[in-house]
Amino acid sequence: MSAQIIDGKAVAKAVKQGLKERIARLAEAGVQPGLAAVLVGDDPASHTYVNSKAKACKRLKLYSEIIERPADISQDELTGIVRSLNENPKIHGILVQSPLPGHIDEMAVTMTIDPAKDVDGFHPVNVGLMLLGRPGLLPCTPHGIVKLLDHAGIDPAGKEVVIVGRSNIVGKPLGAMLVQKAKMANATVTIAHSRSANLARITRRADILVAAVGSPEMITSEMVSDGTVVIDVGVNRVDDPGTEKGYRLVGDVAFDTCVEKASYITPVPGGVGPMTIAMLMSNTISAAEAITGHAI
Ligand code: NDP
Repeated sequence: MSAQIIDGKAVAKAVKQGLKERIARLAEAGVQPGLAAVLVGDDPASHTYVNSKAKACKRLKLYSEIIERPADISQDELTGIVRSLNENPKIHGILVQSPLPGHIDEMAVTMTIDPAKDVDGFHPVNVGLMLLGRPGLLPCTPHGIVKLLDHAGIDPAGKEVVIVGRSNIVGKPLGAMLVQKAKMANATVTIAHSRSANLARITRRADILVAAVGSPEMITSEMVSDGTVVIDVGVNRVDDPGTEKGYRLVGDVAFDTCVEKASYITPVPGGVGPMTIAMLMSNTISAAEAITGHAI
């Protein structure tokens, strides 16, 4: 039996459609939500991500700014840019695109962002609120995954969720969200990583398996049990001389074989990726509402 494909593009479109009413309400009050993206260096993938975020803003008629700086920017200059964005009334959301050059202390930069404008949800204040199950700005990729599950009618309550990857931006926050005593949560969560022994034994236990590793097609069909919901976060460029760009994107999951075993599966591209951007738009609007006193 072949899995149902969870169409992230369609769900992201629906999420963005749902934001339009809130954007219109803010416009009536004279508020245009604004997002600033700080882009350091010339990493091509970072440029692509930031441009997609700016395009999404444009489509929703949000204000957006991209602040580009060379890779040799100093820590002080970068934190100075963030501080001035904190004070800028046109800006309600600030993101500093990672990866940053090795000489930059990324956490120190994140901690400079006003938590009210931290639309990536990476500031320790927002991370703490999330862990405590209190309202705050949630990190976009994990929040997008929860929305995808919700749209597909998959309630994680009581389910075994196995997340492969323990990064601060995907694995750990997703685990923290799904373990909450709350709607679209109440799961039993295992977080696996590169030191986990016998990974296949762990992943085969999953009712919902999330791969967030950054290793092309490392989750093979032998690691997936029949009927598992498979969410693929990975975005990996693999060489493909037959394509115009010379590469193609693949996930962390061997899609062609896992699709035969899973009950639901997300494709790459077109699964989790579009949701990350949709949730960033949602956070920017929530931040604008909260900062300007127009929260619902
Ligand atoms: P990180 O590199 O920060 O984390 C990768 C995690 O995978 C680490 O916890 C690492 O373990 C674990 N890992 C590595 N190798 C193995 C292995 N062989 N077995 C088990 N675990 C392993 O990655 P990110 O979380 O930032 O990103 C993961 C992937 O998701 C990437 O492909 C990235 O491009 C993609 N991504 C996609 C997004 C989207 O919107 N679609 C958004 C964010 C990320 P350890 O901690 O022990 O090193």
